[in-house]
Amino acid sequence: MHECCGIFGVNSPNEDVARLTFFALFALQHRGQESAGIATADGRKIRLSADMGLVSQVFDEDSLSQLTGQIAIGHSRYSTRGSSRKINVQPMIVGKGSNTLAIAHNGNIVNDAYLYEELLEQGYPFHTSTDTEVIANLIISSPEKRWVDKIRYAMHRLQGAYSLTLMTKQNLFAVRDPWGVRPLCLGAINGGWAVASESCALDHIGADFIREIEPGEIVAISESGVDSYREETGRKALCIFEYIYFARPDSVINGRLLYPARQAMGAGLAEEHPVDADLVMGVPDSATAAGIGYANRSDIPFCEGLLKNRYVGRTFIEPDQRIRDLDVKLKFNPLPQMLEGKRLVVVDDSIVRGTTTPKVVNLLRRAGVKEIHMRICAPPIRYPCFLGVDMATRQELIAARKTIPEIRDFIGADSLGYLSIEGLIKAVALPRDTFCMACFTGDYPMPVQLEMDKLALETMLATQERRFGIRQR
Ligand code: SF4
Repeated sequence: MHECCGIFGVNSPNEDVARLTFFALFALQHRGQESAGIATADGRKIRLSADMGLVSQVFDEDSLSQLTGQIAIGHSRYSTRGSSRKINVQPMIVGKGSNTLAIAHNGNIVNDAYLYEELLEQGYPFHTSTDTEVIANLIISSPEKRWVDKIRYAMHRLQGAYSLTLMTKQNLFAVRDPWGVRPLCLGAINGGWAVASESCALDHIGADFIREIEPGEIVAISESGVDSYREETGRKALCIFEYIYFARPDSVINGRLLYPARQAMGAGLAEEHPVDADLVMGVPDSATAAGIGYANRSDIPFCEGLLKNRYVGRTFIEPDQRIRDLDVKLKFNPLPQMLEGKRLVVVDDSIVRGTTTPKVVNLLRRAGVKEIHMRICAPPIRYPCFLGVDMATRQELIAARKTIPEIRDFIGADSLGYLSIEGLIKAVALPRDTFCMACFTGDYPMPVQLEMDKLALETMLATQERRFGIRQR
């Protein structure tokens, strides 16, 4: 399961904003590893550097030194809408003259196909296959004069998940959708201001965390300071997987540090699904804290049964068949001397398609583990995500097709236990109506018009391909 992006923005006259953005993106690399980009503005001009690859591969001293100005926005991408190609990298610059903006987006728009057709008819050009360009053109198409009003105009028409950093030649804006599906926070740095997907990025660049940006809020950051524009919003729907998996455990979301929340998920699993075992491990890195939580609550020792190769990002080098067959071995290496003959509890964050878990179980069996008891920090995923998480179609989701005993047999474990929704809510210690949990329940926070949207999207992609010769997917 993949998240879709990390975003950052800074407005500070006393900082090398491009360099600062580079290091913030470096801290947000876990949110997207396909491409990275930085745009800067100096009051008269917007400059952009973006390419495919990891943050450290895309930028060097030379490219950063060209990115001058006192405002910057940055993006690290995992594509969920629009193909993984250079043409779709972000930030992207859209518009002309004084009606120009640079945009970086985390999320997924569900009604973009309709908006796309409408904007195309009005003569707005499209050069990418992303919903981000739809958002930008919608803002630009607004009849309003002030940028804040233009953004609000677009927000009233957009359905879906979007945390945005936007930059004109003079100002920085941070925007969070009315449901608050993706996180976004505000920090202060050296007489200026920064916004980031996660607070860990602010920590790494020495910014002070000020607060989270509220669902439905627009924050405008100019030379004269920060202005906030809020509107009454309805249902909140922060993606629960930010707590389980996506965000870094050292980030704070909704006032909760994620590390102890993940430990509490493990403790909840130990209460709901106890088992006699010799050792507990968490599948690294996202389930490590939950594994420790399980071990502490059950009084079973914690061990690192698998070591992860942490320095692998997404690669564009196609593996040959022999290497492809190694699969999870490229990522994990077991420690047989620790595991041989042991009854092992393995805590993991989720099972989506069920393609990876059997390989992990097999790897552990070959390392000599006697019993494997899988414990999952989330309830079974039975519905697809339309809000920016690259998950699977309903048919591909293993829990939509099989019962829990069938999944246990399929993955080859001796037992399998999922954390209940109640256990998950208790672990994050926030009201249930704070969250989107649609992939467990099918109760989407907004109309997603499943089949119609899919059809409309196909039409949009086909039209674009005809019009601009862009090859999709
Ligand atoms: S459907 Fe699931 S993955 Fe998608 S936003 Fe909601 S909770 Fe997150």
